[in-house]
Order: sequence, then structure tokens, then C-alpha cells
Amino acid sequence: MLEIADTIELERPEDKLIRRLCATLSGYLDQTQIDQCVQAYEVGAAAHAGQFRKSGEAYICHPVSVAISLAEMRMDANSIMAAILHDVIEDTPVSKKQLAAQFGAEVAELVDGVTKLTKIDSKSHAETQAENVRKMFLAMAKDLRVIIVKLADRLHNMQTLGVIPAAKKRRIARETLDIYAPIANRLGMNNIRLKLEALSFEAMYPMRHAVLNNAVKKARGNRRKIVDIIESTIKNRLEQAAINCDVAGREKNLYSIYKKMLNKKISLADVFDVYAFRIFCDDVDTCYRVLGVMHNLYKPIPGRFKDYIALPKANGYQSLHSILMGPYGVPIEIQIRTHEMHRMSESGIAAHWLYKTDDDKTEKFQDRANEWLRDLLEIQKSAGDSLEFIDNLKVDLFPQEVFVFTPQGSIIKLPRGATIIDFAYAVHTDLGNACVSARIDKQLVPLQTKLENGVTVEVITATWARPNPLWLNYVITAKARSGIRNYLKHFKQQEAIDLGRRLLEKELLAMHLHLENIDETKIQALLQVMSKQSLDELLEDIGLGNTMPFLIAKRIAQDDINATVKLDSDQAQKNPLIIKGTEGMVITLAKCCRPIPGDSIIGYFNPGKGIVVHHHECRNSSVVRKKQTNWLDVEWSSDAVGDFPVEIRIEVLNQRGSLATIASTISELNSNIENVTVVDQDDRICVDLITLTVKDRVHLAKIMRRLKELSIVLKLTRVKA
Ligand code: MN
Repeated sequence: MLEIADTIELERPEDKLIRRLCATLSGYLDQTQIDQCVQAYEVGAAAHAGQFRKSGEAYICHPVSVAISLAEMRMDANSIMAAILHDVIEDTPVSKKQLAAQFGAEVAELVDGVTKLTKIDSKSHAETQAENVRKMFLAMAKDLRVIIVKLADRLHNMQTLGVIPAAKKRRIARETLDIYAPIANRLGMNNIRLKLEALSFEAMYPMRHAVLNNAVKKARGNRRKIVDIIESTIKNRLEQAAINCDVAGREKNLYSIYKKMLNKKISLADVFDVYAFRIFCDDVDTCYRVLGVMHNLYKPIPGRFKDYIALPKANGYQSLHSILMGPYGVPIEIQIRTHEMHRMSESGIAAHWLYKTDDDKTEKFQDRANEWLRDLLEIQKSAGDSLEFIDNLKVDLFPQEVFVFTPQGSIIKLPRGATIIDFAYAVHTDLGNACVSARIDKQLVPLQTKLENGVTVEVITATWARPNPLWLNYVITAKARSGIRNYLKHFKQQEAIDLGRRLLEKELLAMHLHLENIDETKIQALLQVMSKQSLDELLEDIGLGNTMPFLIAKRIAQDDINATVKLDSDQAQKNPLIIKGTEGMVITLAKCCRPIPGDSIIGYFNPGKGIVVHHHECRNSSVVRKKQTNWLDVEWSSDAVGDFPVEIRIEVLNQRGSLATIASTISELNSNIENVTVVDQDDRICVDLITLTVKDRVHLAKIMRRLKELSIVLKLTRVKA
């Protein structure tokens, strides 16, 4: 006996699997590609040698099984190789570099992508799930095939859960239901979705699964006869009409039966009250003809017909659905679709890899995937069922990106969180520089509005418009940022020169001099001492706060331009600089104390930035004042007009409608609330910081008086630092 056993070459499970894989691959790949896959198997098997699955099988059985399910979906050779090698980077000494050298960069990238997901998987607990999912999709944005391999990996792991603690089993099943099944659904991969759901259901509720399974088996036996009668009646009628198509009875899967019973709180008998059939046709025309024949055969139940061929579901699903009143009064559910639609409904996104091209480059795949995505967006838009799209998913497949339409219908891809300003710059820098507002789906919206998938954006421009430095807070794309910065840099330079000229003139005036009367040779000598190329360059430096204007004025006033200037601040600051508060970028109002017209103010030279204007009582300004040379007297111009933000701190009774009363009081007095922050709150009192805009001190006083009159207001102060 022993001798015989020794000579018989026992076929190992992995041999069986690789044979099955090759057989499946030979259905759609050429021999060179199959050879590459076999080579990947040899490398994988060698790398995993000595590793075993919990079942005792060689580890390589797992990746090969994953590859088989991808082959059944007819995925391309690179995906198959990546599936075979999907665990080598993580679990063996083989590196990404080695894979790239042997199987090409694409395979290496795919394996690397899956490895990243696996790493996430292994540390996944309920609380980190959201993060997992986000990262998962990070990889997906690069190549959808990574997700498809990962889904197949999860499927095989679910199929081979084996004996693990019940709690762990439930957790994995929960995760599969919450994350993987919806992804499969969103990608239209129904086959995988149904399998994942069925396995998760069994793992999560083994008892319920067993009971339901038995009941369903029994019920099916009892129904067999009616099913047969209906099926042959349908077939006969279609034959009479000379329509070529396939009819198949459709068994509802256990999980969907379970969900139905649970959600609708109905009994198994009620779920089973429906007899379901699928009819497969060669083309769309035939589908509608079959529908006519069916509605003629059995009476359709009103309101239950759905045309998902003309109006596909959000995940691309297409089919005709109708419910008919059958013999013995049993309802019959029919689904009519083409073979092509059926294949799409089973494999979804994976079906896009089926069409082989000579030039199977990544871009091609990505192009097709993007095309699919575009279709999906179109469907979503035209069907208007984006709600369903969201309903079906707890997760977002493209968390990094948002796709929007131009009025001409072309799609612009932007990072998630992008605003209309980003959009405008993405279309053209000139559009960005000139935009003032926009319409989203014909609704007027502000520029900082964040874009959502599928909307149409129309940018409104004006000839007088120019970028605002505040925009930098609202943009996230590099293109918008550099567009705004480039514009502002140029603009700021001009502003700085103008301010520098004003400041220097002011200082010269105190010495009874005028810049225009200064001798040109003296100016040239000064520029040489200051090592500046031009007067503008010097003025810009003054305007930006890098050079103190009264020092330059003193040099000019002296006979010898080279003499050292002694600091003499008493002399320097006689007449204040008059500001309007709306000068632009080189004169800014401090955020700490938010000065408004009417306040006494001082200016502070902030090197490189210009002058920052503070409230006289601002704590920051008293620090500033110690460094004598860096501040200068400023005063509000009597015609300063604008909306100036100011902050108030308000203590109110914590009761319903308090904030609304305050808000309406403020707006009645022609002020806008820019921001409200709740800083402290208990049952009785709520303390808020409100930023509102006012014309000036008088305006603010009026608002504060009115607020103090309200019975709910306990305390009210203006915030100055
Ligand atoms: Mn795996």
C-alpha cells in the first residue's frame, strides 16, 4: 500500500485551482497572457511557501481563488496577476520593486494598492471604520481595479471564515454589510454583492439563517408545481409570438427575504406570495415586445410597472419590471432585460474590462472607468434619483473628488471641498480673475459655495472685478491659489508704492519739504545709499513697512545723505496718517480688536505686510507701542464708509428663540451678522461671541443700546482684544 501511495502523484488543492484558473482564462485571454499569470502563480506560490490558511491548505490557494472570481468576471490579465500576488508585499519578503521588475509597474501598483487596503483591514474596528473607508477610496481614485481585487479578496475570506470566535465573525460580517456590499452595489457588481450579503447574513445570524433556509426549501418544494405551470405558459406564449428569448424562474435570496420580513414585518408566506421570473432578450426592442406579450397574457397590477431601461437606476442597472396577476390569483413578478444588461447587472464596473484592446494601458482602463462614472452622473442627473444613490450607501466612493458641469456640459473634476472660485480658475485664469458670483443649477450663490457632484456651474463675471485676498481662504486648488496670488502680488506692489509715497510725503511735510521738489541728484544718492534700483522700489519698501518713512525723510532733509540718522520720534510723528479702512492690502484692520470709524486708533508697521491698524485700547497695541519706532499715529478719515466687522460678547438667558430675537434686532438696525460662536452655556445662561458689521461707532452704539433693552440680554460688551 505504502509503495503505491508514494508513486501516485496526489493532486494538491492549489494545483486544482490553478488548472481551473487557466481554463477560465483561456476563454478570453491569449496564451502569452495566461503564461504571465502562471508565472505570477509560481512567484506567489514560492513566496508564500510554508504559509498556511486556517483550513490547513497552502496559503497560495487563497489568492488563486480570488483570481478565479476575477477571471469569472473576465478581468484583464494585470488584475488577475495582481490578485494572485495580492498578499506578497504584505506577507512575504517580495517587494514592490521586484514585482515591478518582473511583472511591470501596473501590476506592482495594483498589488501595492491592495496591500494598503489590507493594512487598513487588519486594524479595522468599528470606530476606525470611517477612516478605513476613506483611505480605501483614496486607492480607488487611482485605479478602480484595486477595489475590485479587494472585493474579491473579501468575498473569498467570507467564504472561508471557518471556525473563529462568534464575536469576531459578527464584526467581519457587519463590516462586509456596511462597507463592502454597498461598494459592490455602487459599482453595479450585483453578483459579488449578493454573495457578500448571503455570507454575512449567515455569519451574523447562524440560527435565523438555518431556520429560514429550511422554511424556504420547504416552501419552494410546495411551489414547484405552480412555478412550472407559469413558466411553461410564458414560454409557450412567447414562442407563439415568435420571440426568441430565455425564461428563468428567479429565486429570491435568503438575505433579501430576511430583510423584507424584517422591514415590512411580514411572514415568510407573504414574502413567498410572489412568483418571480426573468426573461432575457437579444435586444432592447425585443424587451418591449416581450413586455407587451406578458401584459397581454396576465393583467398587470397598476402602478407596479417600472421602466429601468429608459430610466436606469443610479448604479446603471437596467431592466423592465412589472407585476402581473397570475393564475389562481398569485402575483407574478417579471424582469425583462437584454443579455448585455444582465451581464452589466452582475458584474457592473468589472464588465468594462471585458472589452480587450490591443493597447491595454492603464489610461485606457481609467478612461473607460471615467466614462462609466460620467454615465453614472448623467443617469443620476436625468433620473433625478440622487436620493436613492445616497440612501443605498453609507459611504462615499469618491471622497476626494467632485465632478461638476460647465454650462456647455463638459465635466470639470475638482478636489472635494472646491468652491466656485476653484472652478472658475480651473476653467481659465481670466475667468477666475473676473468672477463676482455664480449660478449653481440656475440659483444665484456666493463665490465661496462648495461644489457638489453633478451640479452645473455658471460663473458671472464683471469687468471691474478683481481677486480678493480673502479668496485664499476659500480655495483649495493650486491653480486658483497661484492665480489669486499672482494677481495680488502685482496689485499689492502698486498699493505699497502708493502708501509709501503718502507716508514719505507726510514725513517730509513735517520738515516743510515736498518730494517733487527734491533734487534728482539727491534722490539718486539716496537710492545708492539704500541700495535701491528705483524710487518706486524704495517707496514700496516703505509701504510694506520694511523701511521707516521718517528715517528716509530725515536723510533727505540732511545736507549729507550719508550721515547717520539719529532716531527722534518726537519730531517724526506730528500729523497722523489719515485712513479710510478700505485702502486694500497694505493697510489692514487688526482682527484682535477690530477698530471701526470713530475709534481712536494707532498704526503699526508690520515688516513685509504694511500697516496694521489697532484700537487704541487694544492690548496688542500697547505691546506694540513699547517698540517706539514701529508705530505711527493714524486717524479715521471723516468720510470713511463701509461695513466694518466688530465683535461683541453677549450673555443671554438660555431659552428658545433667544438667538433669533437678537439676530432680528441686529438686522433691523441694518447690520449683518458674520459669525456667532457659543463660548459658554449652561441651563440658564448662554454666552455668545457675535461678529457683526457696522458703519461706525455711532452705529454700533445704537445696536448695543437696543440689545441692552431686550429682557433676555443680561450683559453686553464690545470685544477689544
Ligand atoms: Mn487576501
